[in-house]
Amino acid sequence: MSGEFNLIEKYFAHKQTNRADVDLSLGDDCAIVSPPPGYQIAISTDTVVLGTHFLAGAEPAAVAYKALMSNISDLAAMGATPAWLSMALTLPEIDESWLTPFCDAMFQLADEHDLQLIGGDTTKGPLSIAFTIQGLVPHGQALTRSGAKVGDWVYVTGQLGDSQAGLDVILNPDNRTKPFADILVQRHFYVQSRIKVAEQLRGVASSCIDISDGLVSDLGHILKRSQVSAQLDVSQLPISPETIAFYGDDIQAQRAALKSGEEYELCFTVAANNAEKLAAITQKTGCQLTCIGQIVAPEISNNVACLELVRAGQPLLSDDPILQAQGFDHFNQS
Ligand code: ADP
Ligand code: MG
Repeated sequence: MSGEFNLIEKYFAHKQTNRADVDLSLGDDCAIVSPPPGYQIAISTDTVVLGTHFLAGAEPAAVAYKALMSNISDLAAMGATPAWLSMALTLPEIDESWLTPFCDAMFQLADEHDLQLIGGDTTKGPLSIAFTIQGLVPHGQALTRSGAKVGDWVYVTGQLGDSQAGLDVILNPDNRTKPFADILVQRHFYVQSRIKVAEQLRGVASSCIDISDGLVSDLGHILKRSQVSAQLDVSQLPISPETIAFYGDDIQAQRAALKSGEEYELCFTVAANNAEKLAAITQKTGCQLTCIGQIVAPEISNNVACLELVRAGQPLLSDDPILQAQGFDHFNQS
């Protein structure tokens, strides 16, 4: 786009301290990095598009934070430590009042993770941001979706449902008068990083995923890749008092916690003999870790894993409001 070089120089270049492993950053045809010996590189790309992932009026700082955090969360899910970032930015125009807060928020979050912007591409067109993030993980220690074993406990970090409640406010103005609406919108945009927890889960968790599509769906990926089933107790789901007040009762809040995407919490499994290590991880990171279920014997047919929901240890009755809720008519993960 015209003015591209000025734009790169003004907004993207020389904004961060150079990481020692970055040999060549913005300005040449490629960036050059030197990964430390003994480490593997974890790589992930995510795109956010105006109208699909955020609305036109969304604050640019919030857009930057959410777009980058969804990428950071993918590294967390693998137990990788953030290192390098590339950004493909498509802009309808060079709008200083949008770019400045966008870049400030992006660089602040990147700096907090010692994550360096090493390159990218800038084009003219409908607003979209595609980040490619790369992280480092000691060889062989990446957390994958495929390691869950029968008997392992299922855990989640933090609390579930806040992001969904915030989204329900953003999408439906009638919800603005509900309790804690403003706080929940903030939590939707500014989810917490789980990188510190993820680093501690290396060698402890048997499988891990970040919750970007919803717990039922994302735990389903672990089950399918690990060829196991799970029993999940909805009464154990960690839900904030604000989200319970927003939805008006526990069951509606549990329903939100089960289906809510974009929570960017981690769902992971731990062998029973490793579970005692989790208290120390909570102490070290300040992150709540909650056991919500257990991996059970695989009842797999045709590559379909089964996620059974219980409430306080009892099978859900067929008239349980969670089962009646739209979108929860079946729990098999195909
Ligand atoms: P080329 O035409 O060789 O692809 P560009 O003009 O697209 O080069 O980019 C010049 C330099 O600026 C490159 O080093 C590229 O990585 C960097 N760059 C361009 N756009 C961005 C961006 N949005 N974020 C970070 N770096 C960028
Ligand atoms: Mg280019």
